[in-house]
Amino acid sequence: MLKGKVILVTGATRGIGQATAVVLAERGAQVVLHGRTAEGLAETVAAVEAIGYKPFTVLYDVTDELNMKQAIVAIKKEFGRLDGLVNNAGIMQEGLLGMLKTASVQEMMTVNVTSALVQMQYASKLMMKNDSSSIVNVSSVIGLHGAEGSAAYAASKAAVVGFTKSAAKEWAARGIRVNAVAPGFIETDLTAHYEGTRKEGVLSTIKMQRFGQAREVANVIAFLLSDDASYVTGQIIGVDGGMVI
Ligand code: NAD
Repeated sequence: MLKGKVILVTGATRGIGQATAVVLAERGAQVVLHGRTAEGLAETVAAVEAIGYKPFTVLYDVTDELNMKQAIVAIKKEFGRLDGLVNNAGIMQEGLLGMLKTASVQEMMTVNVTSALVQMQYASKLMMKNDSSSIVNVSSVIGLHGAEGSAAYAASKAAVVGFTKSAAKEWAARGIRVNAVAPGFIETDLTAHYEGTRKEGVLSTIKMQRFGQAREVANVIAFLLSDDASYVTGQIIGVDGGMVI
């Protein structure tokens, strides 16, 4: 159900983005891998090539709108179409409210909100030429429910929910489905600094009594991109092992 679909995955260098690129390639998609540098993407490129596909790569910082726009032009030139976008690139910086620096709040808002929304806008221009296409944004369980030390990150990921639902309403008639996943605690570089009692504390909130793996998020993203989800739009799908039920 993904065979031949041209799908752009942002932040494909590692973690959830890398796992998503691999799962999509395994299911026959033509993946377009986004990273900031060719070196950063090398591991993912090798993984996709090992499956038997040649990925197309685009390089830019997601805060660089001009380069983002040029990447969409390059995708149009190469494939003439775009069937899917996984809006995954994101950052998390923590700090209790009394300590939170304005610069940190602004950086998360820029990367997680403004850049992700603008990425959706540029991708949609190409997607609207198709009869059907799909965008999957990456929110977080923290965006839905908050967490101590994560007010700014929570605000940025709550914003992802807002623009996902708004875009779903605006673009449904244009054939673009827009959904989001809300991962819980997934073992990637983003969560690698959690250890000891803090990590055990998180574990105690997860009904399945284990942390998630990037591939488990990737599988849900792949479903939302596929024709199996042809009547699903505007939804926020939790992938959290029962952290929030
Ligand atoms: P990660 O840190 O391993 O990967 C983040 C990716 O985003 C990297 O490829 C990084 O290079 C890219 N990126 C960040 N800022 C960028 C920028 N300015 N320009 C270009 N690329 C940029 O983290 P991950 O866990 O794989 O996270 C992926 C997404 O999932 C993020 O949006 C994150 O907020 C979200 N998420 C993660 C978890 C978790 O537990 N790991 C939970 C909920 C949501």
